[in-house]
Amino acid sequence: MLNNDVFIFDNAVHNYDLSDANMARPDSGLDRAYHLRLGDVRRTSGQELTYGNGDMYSSFARKWNPKDLGKLLFEDSATDMAMAQAVVLYDVYKQGFAPVEAQYEFARAFPDRVMFCGGVDPLYPSLEGALEEMERQVKQLGAKSFKFYNAHIGASWRADDPKLAYPLYERGRQLGIKVFQFHKGFPITRARLEDLSPLDIQRAATDFPDLTFAIHHLALPYFEETVYIAARFPNVVLVLSGTMHLPMIAPWQFMEYMGRLLRDVGSDRILWGSEAPLFGNPQPMIEWFWKMEIPEVLQERYGYPEITEQDKRKILGENQARLFGVDVETAKRQARTRERSAA
Ligand SMILES: [Zn+2]
Repeated sequence: MLNNDVFIFDNAVHNYDLSDANMARPDSGLDRAYHLRLGDVRRTSGQELTYGNGDMYSSFARKWNPKDLGKLLFEDSATDMAMAQAVVLYDVYKQGFAPVEAQYEFARAFPDRVMFCGGVDPLYPSLEGALEEMERQVKQLGAKSFKFYNAHIGASWRADDPKLAYPLYERGRQLGIKVFQFHKGFPITRARLEDLSPLDIQRAATDFPDLTFAIHHLALPYFEETVYIAARFPNVVLVLSGTMHLPMIAPWQFMEYMGRLLRDVGSDRILWGSEAPLFGNPQPMIEWFWKMEIPEVLQERYGYPEITEQDKRKILGENQARLFGVDVETAKRQARTRERSAA
């Protein structure tokens, strides 16, 4: 079992809404169906589908709430803190896959455990609207970061667009935001794959050296590109979100990715992100990761280093704590107090 002093700060959880009522297009069900296939991982990994009515579809195509998500993360798993990320895919979901207000509600329900990550889109409806909305989300909802989705079924935009994207970073910086996150790769709609390439992060990271850019999902299938970007830009961090099903169904693939990241990027800029509740309870993944090793055969063949306990602690929570100014000792003490009062 996991050592109790390991601090787990999950970068990517979603209080999502995949209900029929939230579908924006007549064919949005096709995009949601891809999520359903990802959810099949839970069956492969032997996890019971204890949420919803029990069958795959109704446990998945639903609207989540703070109570169920809080139980999953903070009672049924060892997660200490989490970032609730808005997913503003307005081309597919009326309120977004993970609506802004729903992430805020989750953060409000667990104020010392959940950070709210806002979301806006300069094309929905406009840059001016997005800038105003950023201001509202920081000042009224307490957003600590922003996550962007630049690839859409219709028009997409680029992270290095001086007219559309740079004003977002500038306004965010004025509001005290230091970490800007991008969904890259990992298509969850029928947006074009090339619009999900991480290459546009390079110029943004060069032009805003005081800001941190987080690339999610290792930008799969753009893994090579992602490694070569992160290796050269100290203000780029990588989030493991969207790869957490691999330990359950393709552990060697995950160990290869991890070995390569440790060799070429290092463990200081890799963040844990479970995507809960998308793949079910994150606890099996946390335990698997804590026990994982880089197999000797991979070390010999590719020059990958071992993965140390220190690496794992950084990835599971300490890196994210450092990025967002969370004092690990204080957060751990709060958790112990909560446990005692619950007992
Ligand atoms: Zn994402």
